[in-house]
Amino acid sequence: MSSGGDDAAAVGGVEGGGGGDGELKRASSKKKGGGGGSPPVRVTEEGAIFRSYRDGREFLLTPESTVLAQKSLGADIIIPLDELPPYHIDRASLVDSVDRTHRWEARSLAQHLSDVREQAMYCVVHGGVDRELRTRSLDYLTSLPFDGYAIGGSLGKDASELSDLLRWMMPLMNANVPGSDVDRRSKPRHLLGIADEPSVLDAVINGIDTMDSCYPTRLARHGTLLSRGGKVHIKSGRHSRRYGMPIDPECGCSTCRNYDRAYLWHLFKAKEPVFMTLATIHNIQYMNDLMARQRQLILEDKI
Ligand SMILES: [Zn+2]
Repeated sequence: MSSGGDDAAAVGGVEGGGGGDGELKRASSKKKGGGGGSPPVRVTEEGAIFRSYRDGREFLLTPESTVLAQKSLGADIIIPLDELPPYHIDRASLVDSVDRTHRWEARSLAQHLSDVREQAMYCVVHGGVDRELRTRSLDYLTSLPFDGYAIGGSLGKDASELSDLLRWMMPLMNANVPGSDVDRRSKPRHLLGIADEPSVLDAVINGIDTMDSCYPTRLARHGTLLSRGGKVHIKSGRHSRRYGMPIDPECGCSTCRNYDRAYLWHLFKAKEPVFMTLATIHNIQYMNDLMARQRQLILEDKI
C-alpha cells in the first residue's frame, strides 16, 4: 500500500505527509539486511525485493502477488503495490517512479479484474507535491476502471503542505475529463497514511471520504491517549493517583467505562502488555467518534 507507515505493500523511502517514519524506512536506513550490508528493499520493474531481517533471505513482492495476498486475506478494498519516493527526490527520479508505479497499478488492476470476488480496488494517485505529475497521475489512473481513488506518495513536508495539496487537487478530482464517460465525483476518495486530528478535519473539509493510518494505535502503544480535552500522556506521574477518572469522560469505550487513569498509569509503568490493548481500544473509539461527528456535520450542512 502507500503512505500508511505500517502498511506492508509500500516500498520506498519516507512515509507521506504525516511526518512519521514507516517500518520500511527504518529498515532501509538501518541497513539490517541480514548482515549482508545491502539494503533490504530494492525496486525493479518486476517488483520489490526484500531481504529478511531474520535470516537475510531475499523475496520478491510483485504487483500480482500483493493483490493475491490481499484477496486471500479477504480485503474489502485492495490497494495496489506502489513505490513511495522520498520528499526530496529529484524530479527525473520522481517521474521514473510515478511511471513505474502506474505500470504496477495497471498490472494490479488486471490481476484484480481476473477474479473480482466482490472486492474493490482503489488506485493510488502519485506525484508528490509536483502539480504537473499529480495531474498526470490523476488523469491516467482515473481513466482506468478502479473503484475509488486514493491519494498516496509524498504528501508534503508538513501539515500545511498537505493542506495546500488537497486544496488544489480535490477540485481536480471533482472535474470530469471532457470526452470521458468516467464520473470522478461518483468514486470515493481515500487519503493514505494520515490520521492526526488537525489533518483529518482539514481533509474532510477538502472532500476526503476515508483515511487510514497506524497513527492512533501507535500513539496508544506508546502511552499517548486521545481525548476531547487534549492528548493524555499516561506516563506522567500526575495520573498516578487519578482514581475514578477515565481517559475521557465522554468516551463510551470499554476502557473508559472500566478503568481509570491511575490504573492505566500503573499498567504502563509496569510494562503490562494489556495496557497496549486497552489504550488501542480507546484511541480507535476516539477516532470513530471524531469521524461520526464529521459525518453528522456533513448531514447538517455545516461542512
Ligand atoms: Zn475511551
